[in-house]
Amino acid sequence: MALKFLSLGSGSSGNSYFLGTESYGVLFDAGLPCSQIKDGLNSHHIGLEQIMGLFVTHDHADHIKAVGALSSKYNIPVYATQPVLDGINSSFFVREKLDATSRRPIEKNTPIQIKDFSITAFNVPHDASDCVGYLVEYEQQKWVLATDVGLIDDEVGKHLKMANHLVIEANYDAEMLFSGNYPDVLKERITNGKGHLCNSDTANFLAANFSSHLRNIWLCHLSGENNRAELAYCTVREALDFRSINIENVNLVTLERAAPSKMYVLE
Ligand SMILES: [Zn+2]
Ligand SMILES: [Zn+2]
Repeated sequence: MALKFLSLGSGSSGNSYFLGTESYGVLFDAGLPCSQIKDGLNSHHIGLEQIMGLFVTHDHADHIKAVGALSSKYNIPVYATQPVLDGINSSFFVREKLDATSRRPIEKNTPIQIKDFSITAFNVPHDASDCVGYLVEYEQQKWVLATDVGLIDDEVGKHLKMANHLVIEANYDAEMLFSGNYPDVLKERITNGKGHLCNSDTANFLAANFSSHLRNIWLCHLSGENNRAELAYCTVREALDFRSINIENVNLVTLERAAPSKMYVLE
């Protein structure tokens, strides 16, 4: 069965991603209203009863707002590290809390088997209670999610390099951020290595570590204030072109902040 990927929303107003096959799937983060997640899936004839688990990257509101509601309403187990599970239940933004039966604490670097998916969390530097990226292995394919990445350290880099299909943050353009209206304290928080990735860091990493096994690159979590889709796209494209990397066989896309993507069939 083919692997399929859908972004339901990407950015500070709410993140949620679906990865699945014809018959089942998992969600990563639920920072959008429940109804939006449900409708986004339904428009591709996917019901919430097909969702085998909800994996959470970290406990910032834009990733967790609907976690409790989705889990309790549709009986979906929630997988996250213990500090993130605790953070969800103490978050002001999560009205419905997770009960003991829905919480599935995970350890980093320890694969979880969900049907034919092997899902492994890896550490990501970010200013939350804890933060992880995810590697999903399915048949011969490796899908990797790295959002809200303060810094591409060795651990993150190792996982990015494994990907055939990569969802990676391109949060801000440095020039737009520094010349923009954000207060200095916020600019510092975004750029201090525990905040977010800028377009050029993502671009330079991809260009320096490009491998022909990479088939899809989705740039995610673009800032509404400090980035533009074409700027993120061009920054990455130019870095790849500069190294004469042939991306004829690579699908490079910026994910929209407020609208679902199309359904991508991965091969
Ligand atoms: Zn975020
Ligand atoms: Zn965050």
